[in-house]
Amino acid sequence: MDGLLLDWYGRTARDLPWRHTRDPYAILVSEVMLQQTQVDRVVPRWIAWLERWPTPADLAAASPADVIRAWQGLGYNRRGLSLHRAAQQIAADGWPADLTDLPGVGPYTAAAVRNFALGEDVLPIDVNVERIQERSGHRFGSACGQALMDLGATVCLARVPRCELCPLAQGCPSRGQRYEPARKQSRFEGSFRQRRSAALRLVAEQPRALAELDAEAVAALEKDALVRVCDGIVSLPE
Ligand code: SF4
Repeated sequence: MDGLLLDWYGRTARDLPWRHTRDPYAILVSEVMLQQTQVDRVVPRWIAWLERWPTPADLAAASPADVIRAWQGLGYNRRGLSLHRAAQQIAADGWPADLTDLPGVGPYTAAAVRNFALGEDVLPIDVNVERIQERSGHRFGSACGQALMDLGATVCLARVPRCELCPLAQGCPSRGQRYEPARKQSRFEGSFRQRRSAALRLVAEQPRALAELDAEAVAALEKDALVRVCDGIVSLPE
C-alpha cells in the first residue's frame, strides 16, 4: 500500500510552503500552528512568522507581548507562548535529544519534526493517520508521513470518506463505509474560549482597565500568563 499511496502523493501533493524546507525550527513552527488551525489560515501566518523571526534566537529575543500579538487569529494563544518558550530553550541550550522536553511539544509534534526535518525513520501519527491505518488495516512506513496527511485531509475524511478517489481503495476493507461523527465539534460562538479570545484581542490593541473587560475571561488569561493585571490595568506581558 505504501507504493500506491506514494504514487498518488507524487501526482497530487498539496504545495505547502513548509514542505520546501528541512529547517527543524520552521517545521516546528508549522506543526504548532497546525495543531488546531486549518492549513489555509496557517500558510500566510507561517510565512510572516518566519520572515519576522527566522531562527529560534530571533524568536527567543522577542517579547511575549509581540508573540501574543503575532499569534492573534490563530486561536489557542497558549500555543504561541509555548513556542516562544521552546525557542528560548533552543537558543540557550540547543535542541534537546528528546523533543518532547520542549514546551508545547507532544509526541506527535516531536515525531513530525524528526521525520519532516531530520529525516528520521519515525511516522508521526495524528488522528488522521490513525484513522487511515485503522480503516485500511495497514501500518504505513515513515516515508508516508506527508502523503498520509494529504489523504486524511482530502480523501479519507472522518465521516464520509471519498473512497472513489482513494489510491488504497482496492485493498481497503473499509471501502464505501460511512461513519457517524465521533463527537460534535464544540462551538466557538458563545463559548468561554470566544470570550477569552475577545478580551485578549482588546488588550493586544492597548492596555485596558479591568472594569471595561470580561473579568472572568481576564482571570483565565492571567492564569495562562497571556495578560497581567496591575493596579486595575490589564496589559500583555512584556
Ligand atoms: S478506501 Fe475509503 S476508507 Fe479506505 S483508506 Fe481509502 S478513503 Fe479511507
